[in-house]
Amino acid sequence: MYTLGIDIGSTTSKCALIKDGATIIATSLSVGGMGTGGPMNALCEIWDRSGLLPQDVSRTIVTGYGRMNYKEADGEVSELTCHALGGSFIFAGLRTIIDIGGQDAKVICLSEQGKMINFVMNDKCAAGTGRFLDVMASILYIDIDDMGEIASKATNPAAISSTCTVFAESEVISQLANGVELSNLVAGICDSVAMRVGALARRAGVKEKVCMSGGVAKNSALRKALGERLGVDIYYDDRAQLFGAIGAALYAYKQVNRK
Ligand code: ADP
Repeated sequence: MYTLGIDIGSTTSKCALIKDGATIIATSLSVGGMGTGGPMNALCEIWDRSGLLPQDVSRTIVTGYGRMNYKEADGEVSELTCHALGGSFIFAGLRTIIDIGGQDAKVICLSEQGKMINFVMNDKCAAGTGRFLDVMASILYIDIDDMGEIASKATNPAAISSTCTVFAESEVISQLANGVELSNLVAGICDSVAMRVGALARRAGVKEKVCMSGGVAKNSALRKALGERLGVDIYYDDRAQLFGAIGAALYAYKQVNRK
C-alpha cells in the first residue's frame, strides 16, 4: 500500500511516497511554497520518479504552512506531528528535533516512545530562521548552498550583534566594507542563528538524541555551531528537509491502518 505526504512550506514544497509505512519509494522537492506552482511541480516529480499514478495511492496527507489551502488531499495535519514522525522514522530513539525552515524555527521534544510532549516556536522574528540566512546570502552575493563550506574556512568569526534582520543587514554590509573576510562574516552569521535557535531549544529543554530538520539543517556550519552551543551531537540526514513530508506519508499510513 502506498501513502503520500505533501509538505507545502513558505519557500519550498516537498513530497514523499512511502510503501507500507516502511519504505521510502520516492521523494521530491520543488522551490516555491504556498501560492506558487511549487506543490504541483513537486507532485509531478513524484509521479515521474516513482512510475506510479495518483490512483495507486491509498491516502494523501498534506502538512506545512500552506496545508489549509490545498484541498486535494484526504486530510491535513500539523508540521509538528509530521516532523516528529519523520524524524523518529529516520533516527531511532530521537528525543529532540530542531526544525529551521524558511520563516520559522521550532524545537520539538519527544518522549521515549517518540510522542511529542512539548514544543516551542519562533514565528515572529526572521532572525533565527532561514529568512535571515537568505537575506545575508543575497547581500553577500553567495549561494545559500555554499554558506556552510565558506564558514568552515573562517579563522576569526565576526560577531553580529544586531538582533534584528534589518539592522544585521547594515551591520554585515559595514563589516564587509571594513575589510572583514567573507568566511569570517558567514561564520558569524551562522553562529548568530545558532545562538537564537539555541536559546529557543534551551527553553524547550534539550534531551539527546537531537537532530535538525528543515532546509537550514543542510548548513554544516550552523549544525556545528548549534551543537557546540548546546553541548550535544546533532544528528543529520540528507533528507532533513523532507522530514515533514515523510511524516505526513507515515501519518496517512497510520490512518489507513486504524480504519
Ligand atoms: P519551508 O518549509 O518553510 O519552505 P524549508 O524547511 O524548506 O522551509 O527550508 C527553507 C530554507 O532552507 C531556506 O530559507 C534556506 O535558508 C534554507 N536552505 C535551503 N537549501 C539550503 C542549503 N543547501 N544549504 C543551507 N540552507 C538551505
